[in-house]
Amino acid sequence: MSGLFKRLFSRTASKKATTSNASDSEAVILKRDQHCVSRKKISKNALKVLYKLNENGFQAYLVGGGVRDILLGLQPKDFDVATDATPEQVKSIFKNSRLIGRRFRLAHILYGREVIEVATFRANHDEPQKTKKTGNKNDQSRTSDHGMLMRDNVYGNMVDDAFRRDFTLNALYYTVRDFSVIDYTNGLNDLAERKLRLIGEPEDRYREDPVRILRAIRLACKLNLTIGSETAKPIPQLSELLTHVSSARLWDESNKMLLSGSAESTWNALRERNVARYLFSQTITALEQKPESFETQQFEQFIKMALQSTDKRIKSQLPVTPAFLYAVFLWAPLQQKAQQLIGKKLPFYEANQKAATQVMEKQRQTIGIPKRFSMVAKEIWALQNRLSNLRKKNVYSVFQHQRFRAAYDFLCLRAGDDAELQKLSKWWTDFQEADDLEQNKMLNSVSHPPKKKRRFKSKKKRSGPPSN
Ligand code: ATP
Ligand code: MG
Repeated sequence: MSGLFKRLFSRTASKKATTSNASDSEAVILKRDQHCVSRKKISKNALKVLYKLNENGFQAYLVGGGVRDILLGLQPKDFDVATDATPEQVKSIFKNSRLIGRRFRLAHILYGREVIEVATFRANHDEPQKTKKTGNKNDQSRTSDHGMLMRDNVYGNMVDDAFRRDFTLNALYYTVRDFSVIDYTNGLNDLAERKLRLIGEPEDRYREDPVRILRAIRLACKLNLTIGSETAKPIPQLSELLTHVSSARLWDESNKMLLSGSAESTWNALRERNVARYLFSQTITALEQKPESFETQQFEQFIKMALQSTDKRIKSQLPVTPAFLYAVFLWAPLQQKAQQLIGKKLPFYEANQKAATQVMEKQRQTIGIPKRFSMVAKEIWALQNRLSNLRKKNVYSVFQHQRFRAAYDFLCLRAGDDAELQKLSKWWTDFQEADDLEQNKMLNSVSHPPKKKRRFKSKKKRSGPPSN
């Protein structure tokens, strides 16, 4: 946080701002010379959106991560705008926009690869309707039997909007009309204390939207914030509510958690707060079965190394794919499932294929990993066996495989303390660094086990694979 903000804020902090609802709210307003949010730190496109909405007679504020991160001295990942224009009015002003979302309808304004998210001010839901078919065509407000908001499209004014947001430090508004920062929820104080606090009654807010549990953990880890005790307390008991959230939404949220540069600390927090089991049930079962065994320790270590390597790559702006991490998370469950199937007399290759499908499908029921990523994870798995076959023909074909690099990285990480695997990954490291001549030498010096003679059995005698 800039020293300027800290100094000036301590002056304004005495102005009361702590309220828990919109009706008795009083705003703390920081004038331009009292904070560090400057137009230089805001994307040109976000500014265009703010000015254009104002020119068309609407209110428009930068809100959320854009304001929060600048006040924390960080570069925002994206910019969100709040306005009193309805999504349809936003669409009519911006030709380059599209409306998205049913649960939470908003406008995306597209500038090449940059998307500015514009949300209409939200208000509280007075009498939410159950999800049963009500014939309510407006689809403004709906609640599930678990208290979850299935539609959050009740529009209100700016103060209402502030109290509908999740955390106090996400409810800070910046306007280009006079360049002030406006705070209704004591967010500036929490920001100065680096404290993440839910607005309103935490249990109700988690029940309304269990994804706020994930957002709390993600933001605390990414921004190095402490989760306030009242905000943290209900998490372990309520995390089960995540099982009612759509798999598509959990895919988006999990990606944000894993690909924001703090995957390792986020993973640890998800486990400590009893959340991970509702997202990665097979992984947690594998880790909890025999926690002291060598295999489990290896798996723990493997996950840790993969998360650390992902964080490092993101910090160095190297490409990462979520497929790799899912391949890691599901590695031990895959091995266990394949062993079970082999125990039921399924041949090795088929058992592995079938296990891969079953394990991945089970994961996809919770986190909706799109097929294009689950396929990559399966390819990485399939290549693990092939990487241990050092026959010339196989080595060249694996080396040219589109997923070779990912499969090789996977092998290096899973090697851990296993001497055999370390030897194998070292062989592949040397092979990649060698020139053609040296590669040939390496291949010729590998001793292969003698080929087994194929024994052909008559089809009749062959027992078919078990059904499961
Ligand atoms: P990031 O840096 O990840 O973008 P962010 O806080 O900006 O963090 P967004 O998903 O872009 O996250 O959301 C923008 C803003 O919308 C949030 O800051 C918050 O005010 C509000 N918001 C997002 N999700 C929720 C939610 N589930 N409940 C209430 N408010 C939310
Ligand atoms: Mg954002």
